[in-house]
Formats: sequence, structure tokens, C-alpha cells
Amino acid sequence: MNVDAIFFDAHPDDIELSCGGTIVNFVKRGLRVGIVDLTSGEMGTRGTPQTRKREAAASARILGAAFREQLDFGDGGLRTTRAEELQIIDVVRKYRPSVVFAPWPDERHPDHARAGRLITEASFYAGLRALERGAKAHRPQATIYYMQNYVVTPSFIVDVTKSWPAKMRAIAAFKSQFHNPKSKEPETFIARKSFLDMIEGRGRHWGAMIAADYGEAYVTKQPPRIEDVIAAYGGREP
Ligand SMILES: [Zn+2]
Repeated sequence: MNVDAIFFDAHPDDIELSCGGTIVNFVKRGLRVGIVDLTSGEMGTRGTPQTRKREAAASARILGAAFREQLDFGDGGLRTTRAEELQIIDVVRKYRPSVVFAPWPDERHPDHARAGRLITEASFYAGLRALERGAKAHRPQATIYYMQNYVVTPSFIVDVTKSWPAKMRAIAAFKSQFHNPKSKEPETFIARKSFLDMIEGRGRHWGAMIAADYGEAYVTKQPPRIEDVIAAYGGREP
């Protein structure tokens, strides 16, 4: 199966928080999108690996992803040896994405930082023909980075206004992880109501920068090609 984009994350639910609206936009345009979690989030304070697996599958259905795979690189100590690199290379060659999305590698959570580096490097190596692994070599056009805890100046922002409600429904599918006044599980940083308020605020902030209600921001090491510069900056001034 070929896909247009693979969204990689270190832990299930990372991708919903940073890229959920972009995924819904892609799917609405008829693009095929896959999600690959490098771990099942087994070190999480709340919920069990089984509940998180169910929640991740429910969220992928809401987003409209063609598939969601979970690898086992180790939550809270994400491994990045040649063995893990080869698994990413195999995923890239199997699905042949035009672009891959990865965490910005300068991140507070070391798993995110390691995932960002690993995916960048493996996506490049996947294109080496002399590296024979069965499936044909394939190199994505770009690795596009999303932000998590640390914020840097974006290279571009996607207008996700129309997809915002679906993104929030996908986040809410992770019932064990996020704010739920009835939960008896221990309080965590992401389970506070203020965390979802921050996600809302960040979406509003990125949106305001492009004269939209909601936005999701990305960083690339090479800039995107823009066809219509006038349209790209339209709507800011009355
Ligand atoms: Zn994470």
C-alpha cells in the first residue's frame, strides 16, 4: 500500500495533539495517511497498554487514517540502535510515503527528541539502493517536523479551522489520558484541564498568525515551494 504521508510519533496521542487537524485535512482531500507510534506508551501513569491501544485505534478511525501501527522501541528510554533504524526503513519502504512527519528533535521529552533524529536518519537511509532489505528503496521528499513542548519559529502553518472539531474528538478518544472530571486515576500534567486549554490556545495562536481560526505549525530544514505568494498572505488586513 502506498500512502501520501506517514505521521510518526514516540507515544500514541502525540500525533493527535500536534497534527490531528492536518491529518483530517489530508484525508478530506482524498490523500492516504498512515500513523506509526514508535511505542505503545506503556510507561504512562494513567490507563493500561491495552486501554491505550484501543484508544489509539479509535482515534485513528476518527482521523480517517488508512492504518495505524505500533512498534515496540521502549517508552521512557526509546531505543535508537541499528535494529530500530532498520524497522523504520522497512516501514518507509513498505508504504512509500511522499513525506514523513516527525517530532522536532530539540524536545523536552528525550523519547520525542530521539524519535525525531531516528526518523530523519532512517528516512534518508531508506533510499539507499545498496541497502538490500527485500522491499525496493524509497526516500520521502521531506521530513516535516511538528512541535511538542518546545516552540520554535515555524516554516509554515496549516489552516486546520474546519478540521479542529475532529482533532478534538480524536484527542478525547484517549479517555484515560486527558482531562476527565470523573477519573479516579492520578493527576498528571496532560490530564489537567489546563493542558487541553493550552492545546486550544496554541491552535488559536498559530491560526492567528495566518489569519485563520486554528492552525498547526511545522518546521522543515528546507523551505516549502510556494506557488501563490499573494494568496499565502491574504486575509490579514481588512
Ligand atoms: Zn509523547
